Amino acid sequence: MSDFKQDALDYHANPKPGKISVELTTAADSARDLSLAYSPGVAEPVKAIAEDPENAYKYTAKGNLVAVITDGSAILGLGNLGPLASKPVMEGKSLLFKRFAGIDSIDVEVESESPQAFIDTVRRIANTYGGINLEDIKAPECFEIERTLIEQCNIPVFHDDQHGTAIVTVAGMLNALEIQGKKVDEAKMVVLGAGAAAISCAKLLILAGMKPENIFMCDRKGVIHSGRDDLNQYKAMFAVDTDKRTFEEALEGADIFLGLSGPDMVTGEQIKTMAENPVVFACANPVPEIMPEIVAEVRPDAIMATGRSDFPNQVNNVLGFPFIFRGALDVRSRAINEEMKLAAAKALADLAREPVTQEVLDAYELDSLEFGKDYIIPKAVDSRLLGAVSTAVAQAAIDTGVADGPLPANYPLKSISDI
Ligand code: NAP
Ligand code: MG
Repeated sequence: MSDFKQDALDYHANPKPGKISVELTTAADSARDLSLAYSPGVAEPVKAIAEDPENAYKYTAKGNLVAVITDGSAILGLGNLGPLASKPVMEGKSLLFKRFAGIDSIDVEVESESPQAFIDTVRRIANTYGGINLEDIKAPECFEIERTLIEQCNIPVFHDDQHGTAIVTVAGMLNALEIQGKKVDEAKMVVLGAGAAAISCAKLLILAGMKPENIFMCDRKGVIHSGRDDLNQYKAMFAVDTDKRTFEEALEGADIFLGLSGPDMVTGEQIKTMAENPVVFACANPVPEIMPEIVAEVRPDAIMATGRSDFPNQVNNVLGFPFIFRGALDVRSRAINEEMKLAAAKALADLAREPVTQEVLDAYELDSLEFGKDYIIPKAVDSRLLGAVSTAVAQAAIDTGVADGPLPANYPLKSISDI
């Protein structure tokens, strides 16, 4: 076994199995502490919550608690390995919630025989949490599952594989287009992939101003066009009137390539045919649709992003979900709506234009880094993400009338010790 694989297993086995644990936040030492924490004292908050459910936010951990819930049907790029095998991924997501946004998070792996059984299970336990992050659920089932749960739950429900990806992608895309001198409402984009991530990215790009008729989405059968009769309802939303049939035909002269499909799907010859100053986002993980060195060779005028940390411009969901939930929880938002998603994307895009801090330069061992071709998206270690994104999301929740509370007095947050 390679060192890295063994290191990964050792990391998960030590110092204790897994990556998360539960900590107490109150004293539980004296007999009096115990009588307050549990019987008989605990009866008082019970009665208060029974009288008014809002009191759950005052007397329990609900308001800072996010469940990461999966059915294990699309674990990373590994496929359907079942709920238990997905537990390290879900614990990992909980780790990131805590590490980056001070959110207590717990993983829930559901054994379910159908999307409806999954929906019923999640709906029944939803009220325990302040928010629900759906994770690694396969398309197209994930769309209906999320839609139904949003409708049935009174707390934010957010499928990160769709929207987290879309938010960070749109942030990078807006900056890339600007650097390349292109306008979002004029740019022509070819998307390779028509799954969970691709569909959500295309929707948010439309909200950011892209014209639906300028989006050419491709699946395994080629361009999704209005003559096709084999499209599910989610793909059908992107069917365009065109005589282009193959990915190659669509890519010729396009301004943007957005890959959310699989490894090594695209050749340098294909990228060569794109318009001047193209934007190439090859986001299949862990192996992109095309490697940056190939793109740099055939099109030195391109801006390139991938999902990987070992190249510039990483489209990394951790830039989004911790802070999006932070903002939503802090104003007691009942949802994470489209305006909140776009506000998060714009806040990320704006942060990349700010001067880079020493903290970031040190973490990446760089002397300098500035907004431009190789820096269109903030870095995950940038501690300003917390304040910038959570404030934008919270304000958008207030502005769109889905928040039950005001912007907290400690906003904008400076560090998770403020929480
Ligand atoms: P998904 O729901 O399974 O969708 C995959 C899509 O790719 C499907 O529409 C599939 O077409 C298409 N596809 C697969 N092979 C293809 C081929 N040879 N030619 C054309 N299309 C092909 O998966 P997903 O969750 O959207 O994720 C897609 C990829 O994006 C994965 O590699 C994932 O790791 C990556 N991703 C990256 C990030 C990130 O960087 N932050 C975030 C999310 C996802 P059919 O519909 O015809 O089957
Ligand atoms: Mg995921």
